[in-house]
Amino acid sequence: MELTKARERIFLTSPHMSDEGYEMDYIKEAFDTNWIAPLGENVNGFERELAEKVGSKSAAALSSGTAAIHMALKAAGVGEGDIVFCPTLTFSATANPIIYQNAIPVFIDSNYESWNMCPKALEEAFEKYPEVKAVIVVHLYGLSADMDKIMDICKEHNVAVIEDAAESLGTYYKGKHTGTFGDYGIFSFNGNKIITTSGGGMLVSDNEERIDKVRFWATQSRDQARHYQHSELGFNYRMSNVLAGIGRGQLKVLDQRVVKKRYIFEFYKKELGGLEGVEFMPVNEWDEPNYWLSSMALKGKIRPIGVMEALERENIESRPVWKPMHMQPFFEKYDFVGADIAEKLFENGVCLPSDTKMPDGDLERVCKIIKGLWLK
Ligand SMILES: *Cc1c(COP(=O)(O)O)cnc(C)c1O
Repeated sequence: MELTKARERIFLTSPHMSDEGYEMDYIKEAFDTNWIAPLGENVNGFERELAEKVGSKSAAALSSGTAAIHMALKAAGVGEGDIVFCPTLTFSATANPIIYQNAIPVFIDSNYESWNMCPKALEEAFEKYPEVKAVIVVHLYGLSADMDKIMDICKEHNVAVIEDAAESLGTYYKGKHTGTFGDYGIFSFNGNKIITTSGGGMLVSDNEERIDKVRFWATQSRDQARHYQHSELGFNYRMSNVLAGIGRGQLKVLDQRVVKKRYIFEFYKKELGGLEGVEFMPVNEWDEPNYWLSSMALKGKIRPIGVMEALERENIESRPVWKPMHMQPFFEKYDFVGADIAEKLFENGVCLPSDTKMPDGDLERVCKIIKGLWLK
Protein backbone atom coordinates (compact mmCIF):
# COMPACT_ATOMS: atom_id res chain seq x y z
CA MET A 1 0.00 0.00 0.00
CA GLU A 2 1.15 3.46 -0.85
CA LEU A 3 1.77 5.35 2.37
CA THR A 4 2.85 8.71 1.08
CA LYS A 5 1.43 10.21 -2.06
CA ALA A 6 4.12 11.62 -4.37
CA ARG A 7 4.04 15.38 -4.11
CA GLU A 8 2.75 17.22 -7.14
CA ARG A 9 5.49 18.64 -9.33
CA ILE A 10 6.36 22.28 -8.85
CA PHE A 11 7.08 23.82 -12.25
CA LEU A 12 9.54 26.50 -13.26
CA THR A 13 6.61 28.26 -14.89
CA SER A 14 3.47 26.86 -16.49
CA PRO A 15 0.35 28.16 -18.28
CA HIS A 16 -2.01 30.00 -15.94
CA MET A 17 -5.44 30.79 -17.35
CA SER A 18 -7.64 33.45 -15.75
CA ASP A 19 -9.93 32.46 -12.87
CA GLU A 20 -12.69 34.41 -14.63
CA GLY A 21 -12.58 32.25 -17.77
CA TYR A 22 -11.98 35.21 -20.10
CA GLU A 23 -10.08 32.98 -22.54
CA MET A 24 -13.02 30.59 -22.97
CA ASP A 25 -15.40 33.51 -23.64
CA TYR A 26 -13.27 34.65 -26.58
CA ILE A 27 -12.79 31.10 -27.86
CA LYS A 28 -16.54 30.47 -27.63
CA GLU A 29 -17.19 33.60 -29.66
CA ALA A 30 -14.85 32.30 -32.35
CA PHE A 31 -16.70 28.97 -32.40
CA ASP A 32 -20.17 30.55 -32.32
CA THR A 33 -19.38 32.73 -35.34
CA ASN A 34 -17.35 29.94 -37.02
CA TRP A 35 -14.34 32.28 -37.18
CA ILE A 36 -12.01 29.39 -36.37
CA ALA A 37 -9.87 30.45 -39.30
CA PRO A 38 -8.59 32.38 -41.04
CA LEU A 39 -7.76 35.37 -38.88
CA GLY A 40 -10.91 37.16 -37.64
CA GLU A 41 -11.98 39.46 -34.81
CA ASN A 42 -9.83 37.88 -32.08
CA VAL A 43 -6.67 38.39 -34.15
CA ASN A 44 -7.60 42.02 -34.87
CA GLY A 45 -8.60 42.55 -31.24
CA PHE A 46 -5.46 40.95 -29.82
CA GLU A 47 -3.24 43.06 -32.08
CA ARG A 48 -5.09 46.25 -31.09
CA GLU A 49 -5.14 45.44 -27.36
CA LEU A 50 -1.51 44.38 -27.14
CA ALA A 51 -0.32 47.43 -29.11
CA GLU A 52 -2.30 49.63 -26.74
CA LYS A 53 -0.97 47.85 -23.66
CA VAL A 54 2.68 48.35 -24.63
CA GLY A 55 2.20 51.76 -26.27
CA SER A 56 3.00 50.89 -29.86
CA LYS A 57 1.19 52.15 -32.98
CA SER A 58 0.69 48.75 -34.60
CA ALA A 59 1.12 45.02 -34.13
CA ALA A 60 0.99 41.82 -36.18
CA ALA A 61 -0.05 38.55 -34.47
CA LEU A 62 2.14 35.68 -35.65
CA SER A 63 2.56 31.96 -35.05
CA SER A 64 5.54 32.35 -32.68
CA GLY A 65 8.05 34.75 -31.20
CA THR A 66 10.64 33.18 -33.47
CA ALA A 67 8.52 33.99 -36.53
CA ALA A 68 8.22 37.56 -35.21
CA ILE A 69 12.01 37.91 -34.98
CA HIS A 70 12.33 36.49 -38.49
CA MET A 71 9.82 39.00 -39.85
CA ALA A 72 11.47 41.88 -37.94
CA LEU A 73 14.83 41.07 -39.54
CA LYS A 74 13.23 40.91 -42.98
CA ALA A 75 11.34 44.16 -42.38
CA ALA A 76 14.61 45.80 -41.32
CA GLY A 77 16.11 44.76 -44.67
CA VAL A 78 18.49 42.13 -43.27
CA GLY A 79 19.49 39.71 -46.03
CA GLU A 80 22.25 37.49 -47.27
CA GLY A 81 25.69 38.24 -45.84
CA ASP A 82 24.51 41.07 -43.56
CA ILE A 83 25.94 41.28 -40.06
CA VAL A 84 23.56 41.31 -37.08
CA PHE A 85 24.66 41.91 -33.48
CA CYS A 86 22.96 39.58 -31.00
CA PRO A 87 23.41 39.09 -27.25
CA THR A 88 25.22 35.84 -26.52
CA LEU A 89 23.28 35.21 -23.30
CA THR A 90 19.86 34.28 -24.65
CA PHE A 91 17.68 31.46 -25.92
CA SER A 92 18.64 30.15 -29.39
CA ALA A 93 15.38 31.46 -30.87
CA THR A 94 16.90 34.96 -30.79
CA ALA A 95 19.75 33.92 -33.08
CA ASN A 96 18.20 31.27 -35.36
CA PRO A 97 16.22 33.74 -37.55
CA ILE A 98 19.49 35.54 -38.39
CA ILE A 99 20.54 32.30 -40.07
CA TYR A 100 17.09 31.91 -41.73
CA GLN A 101 17.86 35.21 -43.50
CA ASN A 102 21.34 33.96 -44.49
CA ALA A 103 22.82 36.76 -42.41
CA ILE A 104 25.79 36.53 -40.02
CA PRO A 105 25.42 36.84 -36.24
CA VAL A 106 28.11 38.47 -34.11
CA PHE A 107 27.55 37.69 -30.45
CA ILE A 108 27.88 40.35 -27.76
CA ASP A 109 28.72 39.78 -24.10
CA SER A 110 26.57 40.70 -21.09
CA ASN A 111 27.51 42.91 -18.15
CA TYR A 112 26.93 42.11 -14.48
CA GLU A 113 24.98 45.33 -14.00
CA SER A 114 22.07 44.16 -16.17
CA TRP A 115 22.88 40.55 -17.17
CA ASN A 116 21.88 41.85 -20.62
CA MET A 117 23.86 43.30 -23.54
CA CYS A 118 26.96 45.17 -22.37
CA PRO A 119 27.03 48.67 -23.95
CA LYS A 120 30.84 48.70 -23.89
CA ALA A 121 31.07 45.40 -25.77
CA LEU A 122 28.46 46.76 -28.20
CA GLU A 123 30.65 49.82 -28.90
CA GLU A 124 33.63 47.55 -29.48
CA ALA A 125 31.59 45.49 -31.92
CA PHE A 126 30.67 48.64 -33.89
CA GLU A 127 34.36 49.48 -34.19
CA LYS A 128 35.08 46.03 -35.54
CA TYR A 129 32.01 45.78 -37.81
CA PRO A 130 30.93 49.32 -38.81
CA GLU A 131 28.89 47.84 -41.71
CA VAL A 132 26.49 46.02 -39.30
CA LYS A 133 22.88 46.01 -40.53
CA ALA A 134 20.84 45.47 -37.35
CA VAL A 135 21.14 44.98 -33.58
CA ILE A 136 18.95 42.60 -31.57
CA VAL A 137 18.58 43.47 -27.88
CA VAL A 138 17.13 40.93 -25.41
CA HIS A 139 15.45 41.64 -22.06
CA LEU A 140 16.40 38.46 -20.26
CA TYR A 141 14.13 36.93 -17.58
CA GLY A 142 12.08 40.12 -17.75
CA LEU A 143 14.97 42.40 -16.76
CA SER A 144 15.32 45.35 -19.11
CA ALA A 145 18.61 45.99 -20.86
CA ASP A 146 20.41 49.34 -20.38
CA MET A 147 18.29 50.96 -23.11
CA ASP A 148 19.42 54.62 -22.95
CA LYS A 149 23.03 53.67 -23.52
CA ILE A 150 22.26 50.99 -26.11
CA MET A 151 19.89 53.25 -28.09
CA ASP A 152 22.40 56.15 -28.04
CA ILE A 153 25.09 53.91 -29.53
CA CYS A 154 22.72 52.44 -32.14
CA LYS A 155 21.39 55.88 -33.16
CA GLU A 156 24.91 57.20 -33.55
CA HIS A 157 25.54 54.38 -36.03
CA ASN A 158 22.12 54.69 -37.63
CA VAL A 159 21.34 51.00 -37.39
CA ALA A 160 18.00 49.18 -37.04
CA VAL A 161 17.19 47.93 -33.54
CA ILE A 162 15.02 44.88 -32.86
CA GLU A 163 14.02 44.17 -29.26
CA ASP A 164 13.46 40.56 -28.34
CA ALA A 165 11.00 41.16 -25.52
CA ALA A 166 9.79 37.52 -25.57
CA GLU A 167 10.46 37.26 -21.83
CA SER A 168 9.61 40.83 -20.85
CA LEU A 169 5.92 41.48 -21.55
CA GLY A 170 4.94 43.68 -18.59
CA THR A 171 8.47 45.09 -18.07
CA TYR A 172 9.00 48.86 -18.17
CA TYR A 173 12.27 50.74 -18.58
CA LYS A 174 11.95 54.24 -17.06
CA GLY A 175 8.17 53.98 -17.46
CA LYS A 176 8.23 52.94 -21.14
CA HIS A 177 7.38 49.37 -22.12
CA THR A 178 10.23 47.16 -23.31
CA GLY A 179 9.86 46.30 -26.98
CA THR A 180 8.95 49.89 -27.93
CA PHE A 181 12.39 51.53 -27.95
CA GLY A 182 13.74 49.99 -31.14
CA ASP A 183 12.32 49.97 -34.67
CA TYR A 184 10.67 46.62 -33.93
CA GLY A 185 9.77 44.69 -30.80
CA ILE A 186 8.67 41.08 -30.46
CA PHE A 187 6.74 39.17 -27.80
CA SER A 188 6.19 35.43 -27.34
CA PHE A 189 3.14 33.58 -26.05
CA ASN A 190 4.84 30.21 -25.83
CA GLY A 191 3.59 27.98 -23.01
CA ASN A 192 6.34 28.98 -20.58
CA LYS A 193 6.02 32.78 -20.96
CA ILE A 194 4.26 35.14 -18.52
CA ILE A 195 1.08 34.87 -20.59
CA THR A 196 0.47 32.24 -23.24
CA THR A 197 -1.71 31.36 -26.23
CA SER A 198 -0.20 27.83 -26.12
CA GLY A 199 2.06 29.11 -28.89
CA GLY A 200 2.25 32.45 -30.67
CA GLY A 201 4.06 35.73 -31.08
CA MET A 202 3.58 39.42 -31.80
CA LEU A 203 5.61 41.94 -33.75
CA VAL A 204 5.10 45.59 -32.75
CA SER A 205 6.28 48.78 -34.42
CA ASP A 206 5.32 52.43 -34.83
CA ASN A 207 5.90 51.93 -38.56
CA GLU A 208 2.42 50.83 -39.68
CA GLU A 209 3.50 50.42 -43.30
CA ARG A 210 6.14 47.84 -42.28
CA ILE A 211 3.64 45.98 -40.07
CA ASP A 212 1.23 45.80 -43.02
CA LYS A 213 4.05 44.41 -45.11
CA VAL A 214 4.77 41.75 -42.45
CA ARG A 215 1.08 40.72 -42.46
CA PHE A 216 1.39 40.35 -46.25
CA TRP A 217 4.56 38.21 -46.07
CA ALA A 218 3.11 36.15 -43.22
CA THR A 219 0.04 35.17 -45.29
CA GLN A 220 2.04 33.72 -48.20
CA SER A 221 2.63 37.07 -49.94
CA ARG A 222 -0.58 36.92 -51.93
CA ASP A 223 -0.76 39.83 -54.34
CA GLN A 224 -4.04 41.74 -54.80
CA ALA A 225 -5.40 39.62 -57.62
CA ARG A 226 -8.29 37.22 -58.11
CA HIS A 227 -5.93 34.48 -59.26
CA TYR A 228 -3.09 33.32 -57.00
CA GLN A 229 -0.20 35.60 -57.83
CA HIS A 230 3.05 36.04 -55.88
CA SER A 231 5.73 38.65 -56.55
CA GLU A 232 7.56 37.92 -53.30
CA LEU A 233 8.58 34.96 -51.16
CA GLY A 234 5.78 34.10 -48.74
CA PHE A 235 5.51 32.63 -45.23
CA ASN A 236 2.70 30.92 -43.33
CA TYR A 237 3.24 32.75 -40.04
CA ARG A 238 -0.14 34.14 -38.93
CA MET A 239 -1.78 33.41 -35.57
CA SER A 240 -5.09 31.54 -35.59
CA ASN A 241 -8.25 33.30 -34.47
CA VAL A 242 -8.85 30.67 -31.76
CA LEU A 243 -5.42 31.16 -30.18
CA ALA A 244 -5.72 34.94 -30.42
CA GLY A 245 -8.83 34.54 -28.24
CA ILE A 246 -6.71 32.91 -25.53
CA GLY A 247 -4.28 35.83 -25.85
CA ARG A 248 -7.02 38.45 -25.39
CA GLY A 249 -8.15 36.71 -22.21
CA GLN A 250 -4.59 36.34 -20.91
CA LEU A 251 -3.80 39.99 -21.55
CA LYS A 252 -6.52 40.92 -19.04
CA VAL A 253 -4.58 39.16 -16.25
CA LEU A 254 -1.04 40.20 -17.25
CA ASP A 255 -0.80 42.83 -14.50
CA GLN A 256 -1.91 40.27 -11.88
CA ARG A 257 0.73 37.85 -13.13
CA VAL A 258 3.44 40.50 -12.79
CA VAL A 259 2.34 41.22 -9.19
CA LYS A 260 2.64 37.51 -8.33
CA LYS A 261 6.00 37.11 -10.12
CA ARG A 262 7.37 40.08 -8.13
CA TYR A 263 6.03 38.55 -4.93
CA ILE A 264 7.84 35.27 -5.74
CA PHE A 265 11.11 37.11 -6.42
CA GLU A 266 10.87 39.11 -3.21
CA PHE A 267 10.04 35.99 -1.23
CA TYR A 268 13.17 34.23 -2.50
CA LYS A 269 15.34 37.28 -2.05
CA LYS A 270 14.26 37.70 1.55
CA GLU A 271 14.70 34.01 2.38
CA LEU A 272 17.84 33.24 0.38
CA GLY A 273 19.52 36.59 -0.31
CA GLY A 274 21.58 36.38 2.89
CA LEU A 275 23.18 33.01 2.13
CA GLU A 276 26.92 33.02 1.55
CA GLY A 277 27.75 33.54 -2.14
CA VAL A 278 24.15 34.15 -3.29
CA GLU A 279 23.47 37.10 -5.55
CA PHE A 280 20.02 37.66 -7.04
CA MET A 281 19.50 38.95 -10.57
CA PRO A 282 20.01 42.71 -10.69
CA VAL A 283 17.00 45.02 -10.50
CA ASN A 284 18.25 48.43 -11.59
CA GLU A 285 16.72 51.77 -10.65
CA TRP A 286 15.65 52.20 -14.31
CA ASP A 287 13.76 48.94 -14.28
CA GLU A 288 10.24 47.74 -13.43
CA PRO A 289 10.65 44.08 -14.37
CA ASN A 290 7.95 41.47 -14.88
CA TYR A 291 10.20 39.03 -12.90
CA TRP A 292 9.39 36.25 -15.40
CA LEU A 293 11.95 33.88 -13.83
CA SER A 294 13.56 34.50 -10.45
CA SER A 295 17.24 33.80 -10.97
CA MET A 296 20.35 33.92 -8.84
CA ALA A 297 24.09 33.55 -9.28
CA LEU A 298 26.06 31.38 -6.86
CA LYS A 299 29.61 32.50 -6.18
CA GLY A 300 30.44 30.26 -3.22
CA LYS A 301 31.02 26.56 -2.62
CA ILE A 302 27.39 25.55 -3.27
CA ARG A 303 27.07 25.13 -7.03
CA PRO A 304 23.96 25.44 -9.26
CA ILE A 305 24.03 21.72 -10.01
CA GLY A 306 23.75 21.00 -6.26
CA VAL A 307 20.69 23.23 -5.98
CA MET A 308 19.07 21.79 -9.11
CA GLU A 309 19.63 18.20 -7.98
CA ALA A 310 18.33 18.82 -4.47
CA LEU A 311 15.16 20.37 -5.91
CA GLU A 312 14.72 17.64 -8.52
CA ARG A 313 14.80 14.99 -5.78
CA GLU A 314 11.70 16.68 -4.37
CA ASN A 315 10.02 16.84 -7.79
CA ILE A 316 10.70 20.55 -8.17
CA GLU A 317 11.82 21.99 -11.50
CA SER A 318 14.65 24.52 -11.82
CA ARG A 319 17.20 25.13 -14.55
CA PRO A 320 20.50 26.77 -15.43
CA VAL A 321 20.78 30.23 -16.94
CA TRP A 322 20.82 30.12 -20.80
CA LYS A 323 23.99 28.65 -22.23
CA PRO A 324 25.64 31.46 -24.25
CA MET A 325 25.30 31.27 -28.04
CA HIS A 326 29.04 31.61 -28.69
CA MET A 327 29.52 28.38 -26.68
CA GLN A 328 26.92 26.43 -28.69
CA PRO A 329 28.21 23.83 -31.17
CA PHE A 330 26.04 25.29 -33.92
CA PHE A 331 27.04 28.93 -33.37
CA GLU A 332 30.63 28.76 -32.11
CA LYS A 333 32.04 29.48 -35.59
CA TYR A 334 30.64 33.03 -35.43
CA ASP A 335 32.50 35.92 -33.85
CA PHE A 336 32.01 36.99 -30.25
CA VAL A 337 32.87 40.38 -28.75
CA GLY A 338 33.41 40.75 -25.02
CA ALA A 339 34.92 38.97 -22.04
CA ASP A 340 33.73 36.02 -19.93
CA ILE A 341 30.72 37.55 -18.21
CA ALA A 342 27.94 35.63 -20.00
CA GLU A 343 30.02 32.49 -19.51
CA LYS A 344 30.31 33.18 -15.75
CA LEU A 345 26.58 33.88 -15.48
CA PHE A 346 25.95 30.54 -17.18
CA GLU A 347 28.35 28.73 -14.84
CA ASN A 348 26.91 30.33 -11.69
CA GLY A 349 23.29 30.96 -12.57
CA VAL A 350 20.17 29.06 -11.56
CA CYS A 351 16.53 29.84 -12.32
CA LEU A 352 14.14 29.05 -9.47
CA PRO A 353 10.53 27.84 -9.77
CA SER A 354 8.52 30.96 -10.62
CA ASP A 355 5.11 29.53 -11.36
CA THR A 356 2.35 32.06 -10.61
CA LYS A 357 0.13 29.26 -9.28
CA MET A 358 2.57 28.51 -6.41
CA PRO A 359 1.10 28.97 -2.94
CA ASP A 360 3.32 30.25 -0.08
CA GLY A 361 3.71 26.67 1.16
CA ASP A 362 5.50 25.72 -2.06
CA LEU A 363 7.76 28.76 -1.88
CA GLU A 364 8.63 27.87 1.71
CA ARG A 365 9.44 24.30 0.69
CA VAL A 366 11.76 25.44 -2.10
CA CYS A 367 13.56 27.81 0.28
CA LYS A 368 13.87 25.15 2.99
CA ILE A 369 15.48 22.69 0.59
CA ILE A 370 17.94 25.29 -0.69
CA LYS A 371 18.80 26.62 2.79
CA GLY A 372 19.44 23.05 3.86
CA LEU A 373 22.39 22.89 1.46
CA TRP A 374 24.13 25.68 3.36
CA LEU A 375 23.67 23.91 6.71
CA LYS A 376 25.59 20.77 5.69
C1 LIG B 1 10.75 32.14 -25.85
C2 LIG B 1 11.76 32.99 -26.46
C3 LIG B 1 11.78 33.24 -27.85
C4 LIG B 1 10.97 32.46 -28.84
O1 LIG B 1 9.63 32.54 -28.74
P1 LIG B 1 8.71 31.38 -29.36
O2 LIG B 1 7.35 31.98 -29.28
O3 LIG B 1 8.88 30.18 -28.51
O4 LIG B 1 9.14 31.15 -30.78
C5 LIG B 1 12.71 34.13 -28.34
N1 LIG B 1 13.58 34.74 -27.55
C6 LIG B 1 13.62 34.53 -26.22
C7 LIG B 1 14.61 35.27 -25.41
C8 LIG B 1 12.72 33.63 -25.64
O5 LIG B 1 12.77 33.40 -24.32
